[in-house]
Amino acid sequence: MLKKIMSYMPGKGRKKQQPTYQRQVIPRDQHTVSRSLISEPAKKVLSRLNNAGFEAYLVGGGVRDILLNGRPKDFDVATNATPEEVRDLFRNSRMIGRRFRIVHVLFGREIIEVTTFRGNATEAEDSSDDQRRASEHGLLLRDNVYGSMEEDALRRDFTVNALYYSLEDFSVIDFTGGVDDLNNRRLTLIGDPETRYREDPVRMLRAVRFAAKLDFSIAPDTEAPIQTLAPLLTHVPSARLFEEVLKLFSAGYGAKTYGLLTQYGLLAPLFPATAAAIANGEPDDLIRRALENTDNRIHQGKSVTPYFLYAALLWPALQAEWQRRQDNGEPAQPALHQAIGKVIGQQVQATAIPRRFSGPMKEIWELQMRLPRRNGKRALVTLEHPRFRAAYDFLLVREAAGETNEGLGEWWTDFQKKDEKGRERMLSELAPSGPKNRRRKRKKPATPKD
Ligand code: ATP
Ligand code: MG
Repeated sequence: MLKKIMSYMPGKGRKKQQPTYQRQVIPRDQHTVSRSLISEPAKKVLSRLNNAGFEAYLVGGGVRDILLNGRPKDFDVATNATPEEVRDLFRNSRMIGRRFRIVHVLFGREIIEVTTFRGNATEAEDSSDDQRRASEHGLLLRDNVYGSMEEDALRRDFTVNALYYSLEDFSVIDFTGGVDDLNNRRLTLIGDPETRYREDPVRMLRAVRFAAKLDFSIAPDTEAPIQTLAPLLTHVPSARLFEEVLKLFSAGYGAKTYGLLTQYGLLAPLFPATAAAIANGEPDDLIRRALENTDNRIHQGKSVTPYFLYAALLWPALQAEWQRRQDNGEPAQPALHQAIGKVIGQQVQATAIPRRFSGPMKEIWELQMRLPRRNGKRALVTLEHPRFRAAYDFLLVREAAGETNEGLGEWWTDFQKKDEKGRERMLSELAPSGPKNRRRKRKKPATPKD
């Protein structure tokens, strides 16, 4: 095994200066990788590649999470077989990405991502798979640059993400001090942090995401450039940023992630209008509450929808714009419509929002104005709205965040539980001149400034 690794030492004449790293092989009795935590499909891919005479290792989050006794979300494999060779070995596989080809081996719903060791990547060439795909139409190199295993390790982001596990001798191979960082619960970027962030600014978001999810610290050198380089994120394609935002907030640690994003100045490039509104004094309690709720839901195995997250993350921006328009004398309803259009229009320039999400997000917001209006048939019509449930949940979060305290959420909670008679009674109890309607007559919807 050792011999095999030696043969992968990088060739001479590499120009790019790298910090000196020492290769370490941690034998099976000195680490905690339990094979039982590796999925059968991942093991199958590794052993079939090995049996065909190729090098193949589990790498990335799979190894990291198992060493931390966690359950990996997916498994990535790195190999010296070319994508064509991998594809030929697995009937159930497909090649993706044009610039740097990756093979997805499919086992029912599980996908094992197999990448060929990558060489001394330079500049924008070195980025995640999403980025590679997103930039295909750009000026980036078209060729696949394959390399040695060590080169493959050095182009990865954090040392803890560059550990390789071999199914041939069950050893863990560490080129960059990842095991040490794992033991110290620390994220360290491989190479010169500023260079690596400039190559791919999304690495700043990954630092925050992993710090929150793994409860790791960020090494001082890795942390230092973030605040200054955060604006580089505005150059990342908006579609990729949309995906990254979802990863940030749907892993079950959204509230903590949000705190870190604001701490490092990373909120502004992702949500410019929200960050500006907050800087101007708009409260962000609703965002924090919504993220706490989302985290709880995720830990209970429930689903979360991107449009609910986005409705919350853009709420301060919407409030600021809506208020600004009302202060200028626009009536509440048209002001809201205009504000919604403007906020979405601005946001898609930072992070794309696919239409299937922006539509429902708009509806959640619009329904916030309809929920207080319950007279006559209104409540029954609102109840039938396809987005009623999400809008009602949103209202509850607003109330929990202290935005409104009129018991409207409770009213809707009761209303949903009642039969037809009970609903009629509740509606008849809504006196036309009651306090809830007086509010409507003021033509001011339930804004936090009420
Ligand atoms: P998780 O899947 O739990 O979110 P992960 O570490 O597996 O975490 P992936 O996005 O699945 O993250 O990427 C797999 C591996 O690819 C990473 O562990 C890392 O080694 C490498 N990688 C991913 N994105 C980048 C990037 N932007 N720059 C450098 N290396 C990256
Ligand atoms: Mg992964």
